[in-house]
Amino acid sequence: MKIRELPAHQIHKLLVKKEISCQEIVSETFKVIDEKEKEVHAYISLYQEKSLRQAKSIDEKIKNGETILPLEGIPIGIKDNICICGEKTTCASKILENFISPYDATVIRRLKENGLIFIGKTNMDEFAFGSSTENSYFGPTHNPWDLERVPGGSSGGSAAAVAANETILALGSDTGGSIRQPAAFCGVVGLKPTYGRVSRFGLVAFASSLDQIGPIAKDVTDSALLLNVIAGYDPLDSTSVNKPTPDFTHALIPEVKGIKIGIPKEYFISGIEPEVGKNIKGAIKLLEEAKADIEEISLPHTEYGIATYYIVATAEASANLARFDGIRYGYRSKNSKTLTELYENSRAEGFGAESKRRIMLGTYVLSAGYYDAYYLKGQRARTLIKEDFDRAFEKVDAILTPISPSTAFKIGERIKDPLKMYLSDIFTISANLAGIPGISIPCGFSQQKLPVGLQILAPVFGEEKIFQIAFALEQKLK
Ligand code: GLN
Repeated sequence: MKIRELPAHQIHKLLVKKEISCQEIVSETFKVIDEKEKEVHAYISLYQEKSLRQAKSIDEKIKNGETILPLEGIPIGIKDNICICGEKTTCASKILENFISPYDATVIRRLKENGLIFIGKTNMDEFAFGSSTENSYFGPTHNPWDLERVPGGSSGGSAAAVAANETILALGSDTGGSIRQPAAFCGVVGLKPTYGRVSRFGLVAFASSLDQIGPIAKDVTDSALLLNVIAGYDPLDSTSVNKPTPDFTHALIPEVKGIKIGIPKEYFISGIEPEVGKNIKGAIKLLEEAKADIEEISLPHTEYGIATYYIVATAEASANLARFDGIRYGYRSKNSKTLTELYENSRAEGFGAESKRRIMLGTYVLSAGYYDAYYLKGQRARTLIKEDFDRAFEKVDAILTPISPSTAFKIGERIKDPLKMYLSDIFTISANLAGIPGISIPCGFSQQKLPVGLQILAPVFGEEKIFQIAFALEQKLK
């Protein structure tokens, strides 16, 4: 394997043995970026000089015989809705095009303490609204497996950067599937942790009751290592849960004997591409051969997932985006005579079409006359969806499903039809509504050589079970 293709845990070994230097790794990463970025467009900002300087000081440390932490010196790309102090955080929008973060997100502080090297900020759908990264103000990211196709979204830049070897690790954020679906489309590993496991402090909020930051990596081991670094209680995020973080690498046991895995019948519907179904069924067979207990289950309220999500998520988004008013942050329109005009023009000129759609939908479902009919009902449906999972997890340890009904679609194919785009998330959004963790791991290819993604879900704080099954399956699918 070439250096550029190696996962972090293997690079770490080479660094410790002094068979490679950190400067070589970072230079190699920027060489790949030079070669591929014009076509892939995974990044919004790049920090070449800073990262080379940091690599040099880590090399000094290694030379002096100091020990390094497991991910020290490893390049990482950061989704551009996570604040790094002194750097731009654009959320791929015009309204925040020149916004500079005045502080570090908690995950960034943790990455810094662990010596990871920031390569740059990755492209995304504006404010994380989307499933294809086509909603970026800076133009779309292209899928490295087929440049005419989308990388998924909204963390499409992060997933594409890892898949193209333009970084070794990346962070994404997942409100309804935005880590897992692009990971699936790009053939990499993406994890949405349990709600409350990772601090959201310094993540620009989309829907605060659904958002989680999580790792995007080349394999399951790297994903566990990165979660080790970013997880943990944070007093700065009132929804972060005060619970000790285990060492997730201890869960990486290639053994599934006796583990009960549920297959929800509602997820194997007629609209799913035959190639996706075939690959997922192949993986289920491998687990059966490894003596996992596979059992059909039912999540009866699955059909309400999309409708519920687009009520709850847009309601919260419309409230969260109210702060971008042309006064406090970012873009301010120059053509206004009154204060009201300033608000209106700044927002009209600063937000893209999808953001406006979400603000309008969200404001509508929260408005006095419609609150009970939509928002309240949405919250009730959310509880029913959560209870489906509670009941299922009384019987099984984990749930296995496809990530998306299709593989990566063509750029332009769904962007004019928002409803069709929203349906891409049908298998991922329920985990956010229920607050449970979920992973996407690569599970073979379609005939067109496009990656297929498999999802494993577990009860809240069940990441270890997820890692165990994912690791076992990864060994078998190799
Ligand atoms: N695609 C979903 C949406 O557009 C999910 C986005 C996300 O997880 N950030 O809302």
